[in-house]
Amino acid sequence: MGKLAICPGSFDPITNGHLDIIQRGANVFEEVIVTVFNNQSKSPLFSVEERIELLEESTKHIPNVTVDSSSRLLMDYAREKKAHAVIRGLRAVSDFEYEMQITSMNRKLNEDIETLFMMTNNQYSFLSSSMVKEIAKYDGNITGLVPEPVEKALKAKFNYL
Ligand code: ADP
Repeated sequence: MGKLAICPGSFDPITNGHLDIIQRGANVFEEVIVTVFNNQSKSPLFSVEERIELLEESTKHIPNVTVDSSSRLLMDYAREKKAHAVIRGLRAVSDFEYEMQITSMNRKLNEDIETLFMMTNNQYSFLSSSMVKEIAKYDGNITGLVPEPVEKALKAKFNYL
């Protein structure tokens, strides 16, 4: 197994499902860079800077994880970083087709970088950033779904603090 893996995503915001995948990646690779990609087609709740800060706070206990952001193509970014692999999380079958499309396109763009899929812990199979935001918007209980700093940040965003 190579040394460096990139864990890309929107992370708007990071959930415990993301964290589970990041931790699994960090167990296998020597170094993991979690990179926030600013997906123009989604309108984010948190700015890239806020998302980076929440990722840093939520991963500070994992020594071989660092956080970065990029607005380039993932495969160009991965080449520049000399990464060996890209890690993506799979929740349910519903993720599969979308991930297959991206991965086959990415393979066209850069043959040298392998995309690895990791299956999340069952308890996070139906967890997504958008679901967490929807619950938080109505002041629902999101304890256990997101890291603590994210819970606070969501409450503050929706004026419940
Ligand atoms: P993107 O916009 O690139 O899909 P996301 O932030 O939504 O970015 O997700 C980043 C990665 O984390 C994706 O591979 C996604 O499948 C994975 N992921 C998201 N939620 C979970 C979860 N609950 N468990 C495992 N993986 C997840």
